[in-house]
Amino acid sequence: MSGAYQQLLDAAIQHLQGLKERGVQFVPVSSETLAALNQPLRVAARHAPRSDRDGLLSHSLAPSEGERVPKAGEGLVRGPEARRDAVEAAQRPTAPTAPVPRPAPQPAPRPAPIVTKPVEEKPPAEQVLSSALPGDTEVAAPAVAISPEAKAAAFAELRQRAMACVKCPHLASSRKNVVFGVGSPDAELMFIGEAPGADEDDQGEPFVGKAGQLLTRIILAMGLTRETVYIGNILKCRPDTPGQAAGNRKPTPEEMKTCIPYLHEQIDLIRPKVIVALGATAVEGLLGKTIGITKLRGTWKTYRGIPLMPTYHPAYLLRNQAPSEKRRVWEDMLQAMERLGLPISEKQRSYFLKSA
Ligand code: SF4
Repeated sequence: MSGAYQQLLDAAIQHLQGLKERGVQFVPVSSETLAALNQPLRVAARHAPRSDRDGLLSHSLAPSEGERVPKAGEGLVRGPEARRDAVEAAQRPTAPTAPVPRPAPQPAPRPAPIVTKPVEEKPPAEQVLSSALPGDTEVAAPAVAISPEAKAAAFAELRQRAMACVKCPHLASSRKNVVFGVGSPDAELMFIGEAPGADEDDQGEPFVGKAGQLLTRIILAMGLTRETVYIGNILKCRPDTPGQAAGNRKPTPEEMKTCIPYLHEQIDLIRPKVIVALGATAVEGLLGKTIGITKLRGTWKTYRGIPLMPTYHPAYLLRNQAPSEKRRVWEDMLQAMERLGLPISEKQRSYFLKSA
């Protein structure tokens, strides 16, 4: 085994171990990468021009940040024969800039295609504009569909990890419950708030207080239910309020940064078609310090490759009962419904219009 190949292998292993230590369970792999890993490796290593073999090797051993770590039997996990081919290819003189090989056109029938989840079509101009925001992320959706059983197992494992989490000792010692999230793991629409309050801490479920009840009414007005969407928070534990008998406090940026990997894993498993971010703090936690919720709401952003609609927190609507503000939130929901392809009745379109 050449020194260069060994170094490459060590670097790849180190990178994956680093991700695992940071709690990353899955790394998205593009359909192109997976196809290159699964199908043509042996053929390409034996028959492709030398530069193509080197391109395939360097591509497969250097997963980019954000690629899903395959489970046993998937992608990077290969048998001894394939590894031997890879080593053989690595030991030959290399052409480092060689492109990732594509299978050459063949008259013979192609092997059965790998079943992939269609990658979300990118939203148009707003996505380009949104990329200027500091926290926007364009991480592509995982292209590989996992079985319902594997998804349920991964979700249960993630939940178990969050429920036992003590990464924030001050929150772990003051919480009554870890508020993981509620709804369908197959939801197309996901609502994200900032953190649980006292009611949520008591019940272990997000958005169950007065603001949560208003959110439930909004969801119902959209023709959906709490069971068919997914509702979660950036922070899974209630921000503590030492010395205070009542009331809640905003989570700090540091607290949100510590907890957000759990949310990322939830998003990556659910892969909703649309995310609605509720309130300035949640938007800030997701997108970074931005221009303010008043200007940001109603405009599409992108988060982890998914269209995200920022809107006001329902608690704001409880404080400010002006129909114009309710209409603004409702317009944001109409945009979300349109993006989801949900039917919208005339009655729904005209909510709050007369008094706005
Ligand atoms: S807030 Fe999140 S990171 Fe902190 S202890 Fe709770 S679950 Fe863990």
